Amino acid sequence: MTIYNFSAGPAILPQEVLQKAQASLLNYEDSGMSIMELSHRSSLFLDVINQAEQLLRDLMKIPENYRVLFMQGGASLQFSMIPLNFAQHKKALYVHTGAWAKKAIQAAQMVPNVEVEVIATGEATNFTAIPTIPEEAFDQEAAYIHITTNETIGGVAFQTIPDTKTIPLIADMSSNILSNDYQVEDFAMIYAGAQKNIGPAGLTVVIIREDFLNDTPIFSPMLDYAVQAKNESMYNTPPTFAIYMAGLVFEWLKEQGGVPAILKKNQEKANVLYDALEASNLFSSPVDPASRSLTNIPFVTGDDAIDKLFVKEATAAGFENLKGHRSVGGMRASLYNAFPLEGVQALVEFMHTFEQKQG
Ligand code: PMP
Repeated sequence: MTIYNFSAGPAILPQEVLQKAQASLLNYEDSGMSIMELSHRSSLFLDVINQAEQLLRDLMKIPENYRVLFMQGGASLQFSMIPLNFAQHKKALYVHTGAWAKKAIQAAQMVPNVEVEVIATGEATNFTAIPTIPEEAFDQEAAYIHITTNETIGGVAFQTIPDTKTIPLIADMSSNILSNDYQVEDFAMIYAGAQKNIGPAGLTVVIIREDFLNDTPIFSPMLDYAVQAKNESMYNTPPTFAIYMAGLVFEWLKEQGGVPAILKKNQEKANVLYDALEASNLFSSPVDPASRSLTNIPFVTGDDAIDKLFVKEATAAGFENLKGHRSVGGMRASLYNAFPLEGVQALVEFMHTFEQKQG
């Protein structure tokens, strides 16, 4: 039976990448050592991390005045590090688009000496649409504006990036980095947990404009972006295997034609599912069409018992991890870069058969 993995993360990785990694597990490039056994200071590993960075720079067209950091602690640690590094005795502006934005806001509120202001919220639509930011909310004195480009649970995504003028824009891009063709220049900082579009869990990618790096020391070197940048992501031992895997995924993505080509494929995949939801009398999308995510697509029948039955039957048929997030229920299909079009087509066919059985 073919298994299609719809997990929101850790998520599906390209088969070719896994095969290459398998070969490196015992003997990396004839070194007689596993990729996991290499010292992070060895020239073999330095080549790995440098190549991974270069590939990411090429894929995202990252300008030279931006640094790429390979960090740990997940996107969740960034939620605390950002206000700690950039908003001491300042105002930090947040756009509340759903569950992940909320976590970022809550973490910022816990950092001393930071004044957190939510400048737009999707609450009125129950977070089924990206809210518009009122023009007067752009306080030019603010330390930054934080957005979540794609809400992994709610399935809403920014279609265009707001123009914040001179206020630095920071984006949690965890669930659509390298899926959408956002322009790095529009942001002072981008961060993403790796476990969706980049590689295995344990790595967080940070892209940060040099002039935005903090110039006053933070009480902990590990939590200080300037220290991390100065030490080329090696203040401590970096997650070497995850960085190696990220490099392989970047290489794979380049072979696919890069971000513009994968974006086209992602649009095609998402359209197959959204079209099926529009045509269905049983399943529907709770998300405003103008805010729909390409990578995380929640859908519901409106009846919990039928949702549960659908997930059970789908799982038995090889459609794994379709259950919606525990906080919202229903179903969710995550269609990251490595997810194949055939998988979405098969799902849509299965949904159709299920609907007919329901009568
Ligand atoms: N932000 C978004 C948009 C996410 O989807 C996630 C994880 N699902 C996180 C932040 C948290 O990431 P991590 O688990 O790597 O801390």
